[in-house]
Amino acid sequence: MHTIIEPFRIKSVEPIYFNTKEEREVILKKAFFNLFHIHSKDVLIDLLTDSGTSAMSSNQWSGIMQGDESYAGSPSFFRFEKTIQDITGMQLVIPTHQGRAAEKILFSVMGGKEKYFVSNTLFDTTRANIEFTGAEGIDLLCAEGKLPSVPAPFKGNMDTEAFKNFISEKGAANIPLCIITVTNNSGGGQPVSMQNIRAVKKICVENDIPLFIDACRFAENSWFIKQREAGYADKSVKEIAHELFSYADGCTMSAKKDAFANIGGFLAMHDEELALQCRNLLIITEGFPTYGGLAGRDLEAISIGLEEVLDENYLQYRIRSIEYLTNKLIDAGVPVMQPAGGHAVYIDAKEMLPHIPPVQYPAQALAGALYTQGGIRSVEIGSLMFGKYDEKNKLIPAQMELVRLAIPRRVYTQSHIDYVAEVIIEVYKTRQQIKGLQIIEEAPTLRHFTAKLKTID
Ligand SMILES: *Cc1c(COP(=O)(O)O)cnc(C)c1O
Repeated sequence: MHTIIEPFRIKSVEPIYFNTKEEREVILKKAFFNLFHIHSKDVLIDLLTDSGTSAMSSNQWSGIMQGDESYAGSPSFFRFEKTIQDITGMQLVIPTHQGRAAEKILFSVMGGKEKYFVSNTLFDTTRANIEFTGAEGIDLLCAEGKLPSVPAPFKGNMDTEAFKNFISEKGAANIPLCIITVTNNSGGGQPVSMQNIRAVKKICVENDIPLFIDACRFAENSWFIKQREAGYADKSVKEIAHELFSYADGCTMSAKKDAFANIGGFLAMHDEELALQCRNLLIITEGFPTYGGLAGRDLEAISIGLEEVLDENYLQYRIRSIEYLTNKLIDAGVPVMQPAGGHAVYIDAKEMLPHIPPVQYPAQALAGALYTQGGIRSVEIGSLMFGKYDEKNKLIPAQMELVRLAIPRRVYTQSHIDYVAEVIIEVYKTRQQIKGLQIIEEAPTLRHFTAKLKTID
């Protein structure tokens, strides 16, 4: 078989500014070892997130020029609506400025005290929007999803037995919604099988609980189903996506992921009454129902992106590039989450840096080392992000200490990825030299964004 090539040519480019290791050491120190404080022009390869960082196509850019900015009834909205109806089969489409705005509206309508929202794994903004209403978010991930180094085809699946038990314990009446996140972002970008969605749907129907999909990466998930699940190899990704959505009563989506847009999101559903309540809130918080929080040009870019993401040559390249980087790291002995997920590679810092205990933030230290060595920006997903304190102010560490390298869509080429692998392997070989960190300043919530740290000598 030939090399899988990037299925696009490059018409417009952005420069990468090169700096030296010595310069990056100074920059990192000035940023208090927090990569969120570094200016993006000081980064060579930016793998902080795949959200809103996609390269748009020439078609999307021409769509931007075609955008109709009418306040009400813009043709750009009707195109957006029709594209989403075609893919999801859901007739009621509500545009929002981001995924979390769709969540905010949905949970404001459905949430409240003493209610439970059940999921495979809730993304952090989803959980925050649920908990903001006084309700509780419950993750019921399958057992294999909790073991980073053990490969399995669908590690994003929901634990259906645990779901049934949870319903018996709390009562279906207290569970307004079940939400399946595809792919499972917080669980390593791992896919959910069609069989699992069908099984969850059956339980939902038996208990009269609606099912929603958090659809940010629906195309990547559909591609995994085509590759890995019996009976789907000959179906198109569009058909698979259509079946996936057919089991759901609604969905939320951030267009900053699989729609290749730099901003945007939506809610879609079948239920007229729910849509009416959501639209009433939308008008207060986002805007008139035919633009939500978006400009007409954004609606165009999203519609075109949603069609482009179903191109199987693109999806093959996309998923292969994550797997390619993961495999290079495995071959070199670097401990990573397996198998490769859909949008990111995760390095297990606990295993890589046993000389740094969780209280010294090994994953943050590793992220700093990747920046200094090669100008790569990644993000810590460990005790800096999720750690809490007990009553004696002692750190309760997170379950895992991971460094996430999220790959923006259509932005980097194979040689960029080769370079990333080289840098990680260099750091791996000299890992004993990496030093732990301590916090010198932190905010009471979401501290990882702003915390200041220093090295422990
Ligand atoms: C990004 C994301 C969201 C939130 O979307 P925003 O556009 O960032 O507000 C929700 N769920 C998942 C799974 C995501 O990846």
